[in-house]
Amino acid sequence: TAAKETYSFQTEVGRLLDIVAGSLYSNREIFLRELVSNASDACDRLRYLAITAPSLVEGDQQFRIDISLDAKAKTITIRDNGVGMNHDDLLETLGTIARSGTAAYLETLDKGDKKNGKSDLSLIGQFGVGFYSAFMVSDRVDVVTRKAGEQEAWLWSSDGKGEFSIEPAERDERGTTVTLHIKKDAKEFLEETRIRHIIKTYSDHIGFPVKLGDETLNEASAIWTRQPKEITEEQHREFYHHIAHAFDDPWMTIHNRVEGVVSYINLLYIPSTQPFDLFEPERKGHVKLYVNRVFITEDTSGLLPTWLRFLRGVVDSEDLTLNISREMLQTDPKLAKIRTGLTKKVLTEIKKKAEKKPDEYETFWSNFGAVVKEGLIEDATLRDRILEICRFTSTQGSGQVSLADYVGRMKEGQEAIYYIAGEDAAKIAHSPHLEGFKAKGIEVLLLSDPVDEFWMQHVTEYEGKPFKSITRGAADLDAIKGEETADEKKEDDDAASIDSLIAAIRQELGAEVKDVRSSKRLTESPVCLIADEGDMDVNLERLLKRHGR
Ligand code: ADP
Ligand code: MG
Repeated sequence: TAAKETYSFQTEVGRLLDIVAGSLYSNREIFLRELVSNASDACDRLRYLAITAPSLVEGDQQFRIDISLDAKAKTITIRDNGVGMNHDDLLETLGTIARSGTAAYLETLDKGDKKNGKSDLSLIGQFGVGFYSAFMVSDRVDVVTRKAGEQEAWLWSSDGKGEFSIEPAERDERGTTVTLHIKKDAKEFLEETRIRHIIKTYSDHIGFPVKLGDETLNEASAIWTRQPKEITEEQHREFYHHIAHAFDDPWMTIHNRVEGVVSYINLLYIPSTQPFDLFEPERKGHVKLYVNRVFITEDTSGLLPTWLRFLRGVVDSEDLTLNISREMLQTDPKLAKIRTGLTKKVLTEIKKKAEKKPDEYETFWSNFGAVVKEGLIEDATLRDRILEICRFTSTQGSGQVSLADYVGRMKEGQEAIYYIAGEDAAKIAHSPHLEGFKAKGIEVLLLSDPVDEFWMQHVTEYEGKPFKSITRGAADLDAIKGEETADEKKEDDDAASIDSLIAAIRQELGAEVKDVRSSKRLTESPVCLIADEGDMDVNLERLLKRHGR
């Protein structure tokens, strides 16, 4: 049989452990939340595997998490009968950084290092560092584990000081037992009342019984199956932390039960801060799909559109077949029904909030507006509804402006919704193209998200008013009744001298430009570049060029 092997932690883990062990972190109790959360994930994963391989849970179908305390030996044990780990799983997961949130935590530490020479260790509580948080309270951590369906068991052990070992061990059943050898200064966690309180606080929402001896400490029913009014804000927060692997508070909670051709429950959260992977090219979703309380998958692209990928939480339906593969699920027409229902529900809730709490809505929009606007391109049928919740900065109004605000302020004779797009918000706000519009008091939307250029290609109008870039085509400002400017009266006198100036510029620039024209769009600056009506917008042209298109 194999002998004991010793490994070094991946460099990043070593660093993390130094921080964890050295921190006199006031919120150390979260180690239990993290370990119970892992045990619950392990049960969820096995329950899914058992759908197609029932033999994996033969003889033991009651998933549970047992905590035991030994004051004499000074140990806390967390035991589950979940999926367990084999030798390679252990090597892969407990020694490297599996968890993306932890990597993100280290990244913020790096940034902190550069900025002010010291790291913000308090963020540890915000991110949670998963399994490694056990070392906040332990001198040594032993993990005895056996993977469901396999015979060998393994002992993983470490004092958190750079190395860990793996060796063969004994375990009668599948699952994982984590034993913490409690540090001298952490004896408080060996008291039952304290453990009871911690579980109630952080793990009440866990869907499997968490037991201390015979006593079940948590509610042990899936939180989304409870009545909405029975769930407290704290319970939502803790469940959100667990399900989203996030550590901010939910900005909004959408919990409801839909009965119909396809019935389902959704418990969805909109985060109050941007998740770190929001703009990664995969554009992955993170809402978990359950079928009749059984966890199926997390990144079903069929469940929600990618432009709602900031959502977290759970959708549970009894009407999907359990036996379906994750791949086939994506094309299931019932899932498509759920997707349509969810999308509309979320849009409705967001719109309500936008109207009732515009201040709070600004937070949402600055976090996720750029993502929502992708929907204008991808979901043609919902375009009008998405436009209603879009907000913009503009040359008028402070804060965020809606299209309804804009249209309500349009001048007599104004046909179009004017906008200017560019990468740098400050730069476009001072663009010479704006001068004529400002002088006449005509509002212009200032668009500085990269996605703006692209949706403008697809969306032609809002309530019958076309969008018009002020860097393209003739700006027909004469037709609009604005505040009369002094320049306008002077203009006729200058006409003759301008004609000869234009002729001279045309000759000088030759084929470099398509045309040179006089314009009323400028009041301060002598010249500006514009694109012709049928041509590409100046900024879009620049953007595409940079991307080699
Ligand atoms: P995360 O839970 O975010 O993945 P953790 O640091 O908490 O990160 O855990 C790392 C990994 O270790 C898990 O993803 C899982 O693969 C494995 N793991 C931890 N605890 C258990 C357990 N009780 N049973 C099975 N696997 C576990
Ligand atoms: Mg975890």
